[in-house]
This record gives sequence, C-alpha cells and structure tokens, in this order.
Amino acid sequence: MKEVIANVIAEMPEVKEIEKSCRCPKCNIGYLGWTGLVLKGEVDKYMNKCDNIVCDYKKLSNEKYS
Ligand SMILES: [Zn+2]
Repeated sequence: MKEVIANVIAEMPEVKEIEKSCRCPKCNIGYLGWTGLVLKGEVDKYMNKCDNIVCDYKKLSNEKYS
C-alpha cells in the first residue's frame, strides 16, 4: 500500500490579489472603504473611511474604494 501525502498547501500557486482597495496610510492596518457619502461639486467627491475602528481615518477622494 502506498501512502501519498500530498502537500497541497505548499504547492499552492501564488495568488495574485487585485487590490481595488486602498490601504490606510495612517494606521497601515485597515483599508479605506466608501462610506456612502458623496459630496456633490464640480467633481463628485467620495468620502472614504478606514475600516479599522480605532483609526477612524477619513479621506475625500475622487474615487470610491471598496
Ligand atoms: Zn486606518
């Protein structure tokens, strides 16, 4: 009897993550996410907020982060 122990986890190909989200520049732990708030103006601005609850960093940006 042959016992095959496949080390699947070690052979997993490197998963390329598509970074849509923006890492918080303040705490470097959380990610910025759109709060749902839009500031209407000449150019619409989206209020994005860090998802790290202790950080509470807010950033007004031209784009929505997810
Ligand atoms: Zn943060």
